[in-house]
Amino acid sequence: MDVSVRPPASGDVRSAEAAHLAQVYAQFPFEVVSGEGAYLTLADGRRLLDLYGGHAVCALGYGHPRLTQAIRRQAGELLFASNAVALRVRARAADKLAQFAPPGLDRVFFVNSGAEANENALRLACKLAGRSRVVALEHGFHGRTAAAGAVTWGARERWYGFPNTPFDVAFAPRDNAAAAASHIDRETAAVILEPIQGLAGAYALSDDFLRTVRDACDKHGALLIADEVQCGMGRSGLPFAISHSGVAPDMITAAKSLGAGVPCAALLMREECAAQLGGGDLGTTFGGGPLACAAIEAVLDAMVEEQLPAQAAERERQIRATCVAGPVTAIEGRGLLLGLKCAGGARQVRDELLAADILTGTSALPQWLRLMPPLNLREKEAAQLGAAVHQLQEQANE
Ligand code: PLP
Repeated sequence: MDVSVRPPASGDVRSAEAAHLAQVYAQFPFEVVSGEGAYLTLADGRRLLDLYGGHAVCALGYGHPRLTQAIRRQAGELLFASNAVALRVRARAADKLAQFAPPGLDRVFFVNSGAEANENALRLACKLAGRSRVVALEHGFHGRTAAAGAVTWGARERWYGFPNTPFDVAFAPRDNAAAAASHIDRETAAVILEPIQGLAGAYALSDDFLRTVRDACDKHGALLIADEVQCGMGRSGLPFAISHSGVAPDMITAAKSLGAGVPCAALLMREECAAQLGGGDLGTTFGGGPLACAAIEAVLDAMVEEQLPAQAAERERQIRATCVAGPVTAIEGRGLLLGLKCAGGARQVRDELLAADILTGTSALPQWLRLMPPLNLREKEAAQLGAAVHQLQEQANE
């Protein structure tokens, strides 16, 4: 057998990937070679203002010294050790995350991805409640594993693939408080929802809706899981988006911005939930590894010292005040998870902004463009978006 390795394919990067990678992603038509702050540099030397943030991951932008130094230091000291040993860096990451989280969510279980965090949250809820029914919301997205996919709106029709779901799921209409409450009963183990639905165009659930769901959960002994994989970690203008409503969930899942580019996720839970767990009830090889924990610690230090949630709220005000123009007719969402309504379709506006060197994202809803930029986006960078939107208006008027 010939075991020699061919040199990698050169030329167009997408063809090089296509040689062996499963072809499951729609990709942007450019090659990224580096990033600095809120900007990406492309192979042809072009610089793009990145308001897409790698699906809401790059909360600190690119090359943030605090994060890169923490990763370098940790990689040199100890790249990996499993949960079979206690680590100072893991203890610090958990302590800082519990302090950042809403009061009462003091217990942390570290995992590797948003779907895995939700998978564990749902399994725990079924186990603790001794029930096998979950309520989720229409238009919600929670990930692609068996349980997370089961509570994702439309997954079974489009990509789920498993013959059965691990529990029964009822999908309630978003923001219809009475209808949602009518789905919650003594059979319900948990309600899972995104306080700001990300993929659904940055749709913030109303305070009244969230309070009604919380009350119904309390009445029937169901747990409330806030999936803050996309909207959490300061992005909404507060550490976690559900706090805008004053509602206290039983569990929160976080990922994406948690490691700001280093893959990691966390399940935060109340002490009462954690108290019922025993040895072996949850587990993971990589979750809580030292490299991920060093990144989490650096991100949390930046969140607090650089007041990133407040910066996100400030940029939201600026974008709302300056970017409803031309093709953008309305803005939804909170902080720096914003949906821009584009009457003529989001794809076209995304392409036009890309031609003006600004990268944005679409959503599951054809009219809604999504912004998920770094939380330390500067005033002049947000102003670049405002200028580009006005330019599109002028072009349309010509
Ligand atoms: N939950 C929400 C709200 C998400 O937006 C995502 C990913 O986009 C997930 C869960 C799944 O996270 P991951 O892709 O890290 O598994």
